[in-house]
Amino acid sequence: MNQPLPHAALVRQPLPVAVRDALQARFGERFSTSPGVCDHHGRDESPFPPAAPDGVVFAHTTEEVAEVARLCNEHRVPLIAYGAGSSLEGHLLAVAGGISLDLSEMNKVLSVQPEDLNVTVQPGVTRKQLNQEIKDSGLFFPIDPGADASLGGMCATRASGTNAVRYGTMRENVLALTVVTADGRIIKTGTHARKSSAGYDLTRLMIGSEGTLGIITEVTVRLYPQPEAISAAICSFPSMGSAVRATIETIQLGVPVARVEFVDALAIRAINRHDNLSMPEAPHLFFEFHGTEAGVKEQAETVQQIAADNGGQGFEWATRPEDRSRLWNARHTAYFAMLQLKPGCKAVTTDVCVPISRLADCVTETERDLNASSLPCPIVGHVGDGNFHVAILTDPEKPEELAEAETINRRIVERALAMGGTCTGEHGVGLHKMDFLVSEHGEDALDLMRAIKNALDPNHILNPGKIFRPVR
Ligand SMILES: Cc1cc2nc3c(=O)[nH]c(=O)nc-3n(C[C@H](O)[C@H](O)[C@H](O)COP(=O)(O)OP(=O)(O)OC[C@H]3O[C@@H](n4cnc5c(N)ncnc54)[C@H](O)[C@@H]3O)c2cc1C
Repeated sequence: MNQPLPHAALVRQPLPVAVRDALQARFGERFSTSPGVCDHHGRDESPFPPAAPDGVVFAHTTEEVAEVARLCNEHRVPLIAYGAGSSLEGHLLAVAGGISLDLSEMNKVLSVQPEDLNVTVQPGVTRKQLNQEIKDSGLFFPIDPGADASLGGMCATRASGTNAVRYGTMRENVLALTVVTADGRIIKTGTHARKSSAGYDLTRLMIGSEGTLGIITEVTVRLYPQPEAISAAICSFPSMGSAVRATIETIQLGVPVARVEFVDALAIRAINRHDNLSMPEAPHLFFEFHGTEAGVKEQAETVQQIAADNGGQGFEWATRPEDRSRLWNARHTAYFAMLQLKPGCKAVTTDVCVPISRLADCVTETERDLNASSLPCPIVGHVGDGNFHVAILTDPEKPEELAEAETINRRIVERALAMGGTCTGEHGVGLHKMDFLVSEHGEDALDLMRAIKNALDPNHILNPGKIFRPVR
């Protein structure tokens, strides 16, 4: 049995024949209604049951996106933008049917402006592709959500990940967008200038809107000079609390670490099995330092001392690129390694983020909850930002396990909110975090969000049923 979908109020209508015929005539083989293609576009890593769209359009240009939006708007057909499909909270599920607009073939790097440290890309460019294509420019794009997500999808979820502690999230790094509105208008938000006070900030409105306010068809992001020196380090700790305290001291001291990632003992066991490694099964911190040779050495020595003061052991360096990539590869495959702790499971993933001063309390109290649970609950976290994820491993056929996972999630979220934090640091709301928005923002703020949605998408065609629970 699967978790019930929170979209009961949405009615799934058959795709109007006029829309199907128009898309077929306009896009030919780039419009598919094959069950395999539709199924692929209506599922994700979340424990929610798949919900396939009625058809998939593979768009190539902004004008094509606008045409599809106009057609869907005219016929009140749901339209769901699809990037790389790596989102975790049911974002892509076509809970009311409709058209999935696959943007992965809009994957050109349009222009690099090295003097301004900017690049403009189509939305289907993935972060790895971008870094590969600009590597000879001496610049790089730092936002790294682990998965090889698309820039459009990363904008839409306001993604961050391991490097955000140093370089910020998509919120800080997007300068301008081209957006197709629900009724098919093409608008530009922002400019290539580093700052602007010209009116409402539509760029920031779109960042994190999860495909519910517009379809992003071009993205201009900041780039950074590739650091002269990079080194990585790994260190084990006697407890989660001591690892987190070492992180807090590092941040409060102003050490400009590029990455500081927490991995608990159970997650280390999973990584060891998955990657054939032999790290001690204890809580670990993974660090990365960027800067000049001297700066990196100084940062690393400071952090090594902080780690030692907090009981850290076996501080190990990796300066050679191949050693660093082995280390970070282990961290990046942690999610899939953790799933293998319980074959056939699905992870209910928590994503709270709290002010750094409350992180130790939040993690320690959460640890007590998890120790009392019957489910395996490995933890990883971008702790430098105060953000951590518990992967609560559940058998999707057992409703009692899903219910227990949601109870744990709720307790963690309520704790984070009470500490001044958020229910989702980076994954977004999707179908999973809707119930927490009132507690986090208040009813009036949520009403304002609904008013924005109504103004930009009065027919509610854009990714319906996400962010807000539909009103019966
Ligand atoms: C193993 C793993 C680890 C992860 N770790 C992290 C992490 O550390 N940090 C993090 O932030 N995330 C993480 N994620 C989640 C995921 O990678 C991000 O949410 C990512 O930003 C999604 O991008 P995507 O291209 O896959 O988007 P999709 O999954 O295709 O879409 C996500 C949402 O964006 C909308 N959308 C997509 N493209 C557009 C567009 N062009 N215009 C408008 N709306 C659009 C979709 O409708 C949907 O609502 C992880 C996922 C996995 C599987």
